[in-house]
Amino acid sequence: MKRLVLLTLNCLLVHMVLQAQNQDQIDIARVGSITTTEGHESHFTGNVRVNHTIRGGHPPNISGGIVIFEPGARTVWHSHPKGQRVIIIQGVGWVQQWGGPKIEVHPGDVIWIPPNVKHWHGATTTTGVSHYAFAEIHENNGSHNVENMESVTDIQYNGR
Ligand code: MN
Repeated sequence: MKRLVLLTLNCLLVHMVLQAQNQDQIDIARVGSITTTEGHESHFTGNVRVNHTIRGGHPPNISGGIVIFEPGARTVWHSHPKGQRVIIIQGVGWVQQWGGPKIEVHPGDVIWIPPNVKHWHGATTTTGVSHYAFAEIHENNGSHNVENMESVTDIQYNGR
């Protein structure tokens, strides 16, 4: 509940900032002004940092950022109501959909997660990974762009 309130406040703040900008001018959010947070344990396992870089539209219709996973770190099982695009920037990662094989991904790879497909993504056991991830916001539910589920167990993570 507290997180929901914080999320709502954050969205309001972003919205206010966006409204304050001149809407027909290029806007550059300078490095260092971009909020970085630790990945919350209800969303991630292991050491993860999230740079909240992407929000577009009035009101915002897309959200995302750069996510940095240390070796062994990964998301929980989750899905996205409007799907998600993931672009690998650096390192080596794994992505897996429920019931499917674990797939290794590399810098430049572009991953499309279809709507409502249960999956996880993250680093490998030995190499970290950084990726852009962005998802459309479900218009019927405020800032909702992800449905978080149970953690990816070590057995699942280390398996095929
Ligand atoms: Mn995802």
